[in-house]
Amino acid sequence: MTITTEPLRAALADRLDELTATVVSLAEINSGSYNPEGVNRCGERLADIVTRLSPDTLESIPVDPSPVLDANGIRSARPVGNALRAVKRADAPFRVCLFGHLDTVFAPDDPFQSVTVADRRLLGPGVADCKGGLVLAGEVLRHLDTVAWGAEIGWELLVVPDEEIGSISSKGLLREAADAADIGLGFEPALPSSGVAAARKGSLIGHLVVRGVAAHAGRAHHEGRSAILGLAALVARLEAHNQRPGVTVNCGRISGGGALNVVPDFAMAGFNMRVESPEDQRWIEQRFAEAAEESDLDVELIWISTRPPKVRTAALDHMLADVSDAAAQLGTEITPEDTGGCCDGNDLAAAGLTNVDSLGIAGGGIHSSAEFADVDSIPQRAAVVAEVLRRAHRRSTESVGGPT
Ligand SMILES: [Zn+2]
Repeated sequence: MTITTEPLRAALADRLDELTATVVSLAEINSGSYNPEGVNRCGERLADIVTRLSPDTLESIPVDPSPVLDANGIRSARPVGNALRAVKRADAPFRVCLFGHLDTVFAPDDPFQSVTVADRRLLGPGVADCKGGLVLAGEVLRHLDTVAWGAEIGWELLVVPDEEIGSISSKGLLREAADAADIGLGFEPALPSSGVAAARKGSLIGHLVVRGVAAHAGRAHHEGRSAILGLAALVARLEAHNQRPGVTVNCGRISGGGALNVVPDFAMAGFNMRVESPEDQRWIEQRFAEAAEESDLDVELIWISTRPPKVRTAALDHMLADVSDAAAQLGTEITPEDTGGCCDGNDLAAAGLTNVDSLGIAGGGIHSSAEFADVDSIPQRAAVVAEVLRRAHRRSTESVGGPT
């Protein structure tokens, strides 16, 4: 059987030079999460591409600054760039949300800035995560204008400016997108195996800020109450391994104290937890709250960001089966895998939108100076995504017209 989106693959295979140039043009704009000007420039470049899809609306949407905690435990917020949202046929009976992000983990002063091209392999910041995926998404949408069924699909393309720092400022836009769509297609990079993510763990970022009593370490040690000692006990208590299957606790940063002859009155630690289920999340939040409460020092517990776990559901398994099947028909293999990483697909799933989130470009080394992407993968993966969309749409029309 020939897959109906084979012509898309063939057409894109003829345009690899152009696709390469487009990915490079996006990746050469620095768009570190805390570089709003760069993120907005990248958004403008992407808007040029999206304009050609004739969306009904195309908006650059400012979002709130993203909360941060400094080394003294003081909360503040740092500005981030704008989100980009394009919508077409918002009143169509079947709607899809395509999602990705403009930001990367590479700040403007990171040495990894430029893109090198060797054959069809790009080495550069954000080429896989997820600028190559954004180009791929654009091609899927462009394809909809060339097929009869495409005209029946309503779509939203939502590209957030702050995914790499937890999408805290974009949660409202993600919820709106989830409410408006029937399925979601995300363009995070493919897994290293070229597979797609199935279940994803949830991620919680929390801080413990401990305040003790300062005293002279020689003359009055007994009058002091060490914040470092108190924090160390909390870290040991919370990070003790294997307390609950599927839950990991990592204290990744610690700061505090000062002069060595002073009992320290301040210490803080940052933690990242990964959880498999909403029950896990409640369990770990409870453990942190208890630990803070039971310490004999003044302990402040600050949650900065949370991504809920993305769990396997029958609807998700159905979509994943479509992905694998469409890939097989195109002569390739895309296998679903559970992963500990998380992304906007977690938030969309928690808001009720079934989605496959790692349909972007094949590549690897993401979040490092070895990040690469294979432009050759775009034709194949775009054809897979278009076929998944075609099937989901067809199924929706059958369920409307068929027996209830
Ligand atoms: Zn990403």
